[in-house]
Formats: sequence, C-alpha cells, structure tokens
Amino acid sequence: MGLTYTAERAQEIADNLAGVKAKLDETLQSKGTSTQTARLVAVSKLKPASDILAAYEKSGHRNFGENYVQELEEKSKELPGDIKWHFIGSLQSNKCKVVAAIPNIFVVETVDSAKKATTLDKACAAAARSEPLRIFLQVNTSGEGSKSGMLPSGALEVAQHVVSTCSHLKLAGLMTIGSPNPDLENGENPDFKALNECRTTIQDALKINDLELSMGMSDDFERALLQGSTNIRVGSTIFGSRPPFNKTAA
Ligand SMILES: *Cc1c(COP(=O)(O)O)cnc(C)c1O
Repeated sequence: MGLTYTAERAQEIADNLAGVKAKLDETLQSKGTSTQTARLVAVSKLKPASDILAAYEKSGHRNFGENYVQELEEKSKELPGDIKWHFIGSLQSNKCKVVAAIPNIFVVETVDSAKKATTLDKACAAAARSEPLRIFLQVNTSGEGSKSGMLPSGALEVAQHVVSTCSHLKLAGLMTIGSPNPDLENGENPDFKALNECRTTIQDALKINDLELSMGMSDDFERALLQGSTNIRVGSTIFGSRPPFNKTAA
C-alpha cells in the first residue's frame, strides 16, 4: 500500500484515540450498574487515507466514519478490507448504488426517509450483498428545519416500512446529531432524550429490543454516553481540525 505517515503523526492520532477511549470507559463505568457498551467511530472525513492507516496499524482501530460518497469509495479501495466503514453523510438517492457496492460498508447511519430506504434496498439487491446491510434511521430530534433526518413522529412509519418491505436492509438503530448548544433539561440533552423515546416507541411497536443509538460527537459524546449512546462518532478530537469542505469532494 503506497500510503505513508510519520511516526509523529501516528503517535498523535494514537494518543488522541486513547484519550477518547479512556473517557468512553470512564463515562460508562461512572454509570455503575449498566451493561451498556459503546463503539467508537473515528470520523475521518476530509482527512488523508494515511491518517486512517496510522490509526488502523498503530492503534488497531477498525470503525471509521465518512461523509462523502466519492471520498469513501476511494478510501475503501486503498485501505484494508477489514475496516468497518460507517456512512454518516447526507445520502443522495443517486449515490446509493455506489455505497451498496462497497464490500466492507458496515452501516449506513443516515437513512432519512422510506423512499431512500427503498432505493438503498434495491441497490443492495443489485450489488448481491451476502448479508442485509445495517442501517440507522436519522432522526431530526431538534425539529430545526435546517437539519436533515425525519421527525421523531414519522420514524415509526419508516421503521415499519424497512422491516416489512426492505429485505436487503437490517434496521439496526437510530442516529441523531445533537444541537451544538443545547439547553439541558435536568442535566439531560433533549435531543438525546428524544432519540431514546423514539427507540422505545419503535421497539415496542415492532416487538424488537436490539436497536442501537448513534449519538455524540467530539463536543458531546460523554453526555450522549450517559444518555444511552451505543455508537459515538468522534472526528476532530482524534484527527484534529478539518480543512474547509470542498464541494468537489462530495
Ligand atoms: C463530522 C461529523 C461527526 C464528527 O464531528 P466532530 O465534531 O469532528 O467530532 C460526527 N457525526 C457526523 C454526522 C458528522 O458529520
């Protein structure tokens, strides 16, 4: 593999990853009785593939998150095949085929409508994947118009649609992006509370009990863990600040 990184860069990423993992463990331990476990997704968007390889080789990290389909496709081709890729960007219908064709895509976290689920389901059928592709439904828990995702009130209907009509998808969880400056209520982030409530509604109605909660980023992952997150998505704390988004990369 023609990817190189310096020992200094690998050490920096390893230290950052270890710092986040330590906080993750401490936070879960502080909850005491809980049997909750949580996965750390290292969000590598707009960062070079060599950074990912450094985390893979030096820290043994395997879960990485990407936001842009073309960037994910390119990185997946040049990086080891046992990486677990999380697609966490806005999912366009015309890009579902490319995403479904990535052999080691682990989960698409950003399915935001029944229609998009159907498009992705068909793409998975065409790609002849051997197992159903895991998806999370992205929920707009703050109700802000500028945010993507379905409203909590519509999530059950989409979940029912996935379970009953999308045989190439596996409904595996719910995802939200918390407000950057939430007004905590009794110490709780209302976005994370809303995602929990949404999960309860769906699990009760569909008689299932294994849905994950993907919530928490660099600024709020500890709070998200305290409120039940099983999948945190941390970028800048691990890889440093990102270059400005360049449209052509999408
Ligand atoms: C970029 C991104 C992250 C990581 O954000 P940081 O603040 O850098 O940790 C997490 N989730 C989603 C959906 C993102 O787009």
